[in-house]
Amino acid sequence: MHITRLPALRDNYIFVLWDEPGGQAAVVDPAEPAPVLDFLRANRLELTAIFNTHHHGDHVGGNPDLLAHFPKAVVYGGANDRGRIPGQTVFLSAGDDVPFAGRRAEILFVPGHTKAHIAYYFLPTADQPGDLFIGDTLFSGGCGRLFEGTPAQMLHSLQQLRQLPNDTRVWCAHEYTQNNVRFALTVEPDNAALQHYAQQVQALRQQGEATIPSTLGLEKQINPFLRWDEPAIQRAMGSNDPVTVFARLRARKDHF
Ligand code: ZN
Ligand code: FE
Repeated sequence: MHITRLPALRDNYIFVLWDEPGGQAAVVDPAEPAPVLDFLRANRLELTAIFNTHHHGDHVGGNPDLLAHFPKAVVYGGANDRGRIPGQTVFLSAGDDVPFAGRRAEILFVPGHTKAHIAYYFLPTADQPGDLFIGDTLFSGGCGRLFEGTPAQMLHSLQQLRQLPNDTRVWCAHEYTQNNVRFALTVEPDNAALQHYAQQVQALRQQGEATIPSTLGLEKQINPFLRWDEPAIQRAMGSNDPVTVFARLRARKDHF
């Protein structure tokens, strides 16, 4: 399965999953239709599935036009997003699985950014690591804002993600990494892996390159929102209670 990253809107990424030119394709969180339609046309692909992580406009905005071109495409989304995702036909819950292109995605329920947010975790195969399409729950170096959920809910969602294998590729829906890493350094200035990553990110962005996908192993080393049990972060947040550490980090980031 190929995964093609299409930049969209100001800082979104849309991901197209496909096997071979002339075959079938799926798209994750089509922020807008045009880049997807162009890519499908260029590779003579038929869109058979739309995978939505949550209902926000910058993740479902392309659904109506894509469905106008590919009326048979199946639209997947969270069960709790009923009525909020244009054209949704499948209502997914934790533990459901979705087949595509010889692989299988397990559905993770990851509320916090929104109350219905799900993630698509394509299980590893003999020759490919797992692929996690995480929407706005986890960003490289950061996490989504809490629009509809509580800190305890989001922490629980992130705890689930942290248990996935280190080589899992993390396909975040936004290019927020540079700003996230600047914030992370204010929390954990002595983290050598973070310092190193900050330089890599700066170099990539200067060349106009993407920082996505990340890997879970890297995020565990550099992302403060996955490091609530790290003593340096607990000291900086003045607590060793995971929910309190997370809530204070999130509040501080909201005002960064
Ligand atoms: Zn969102
Ligand atoms: Fe978003």
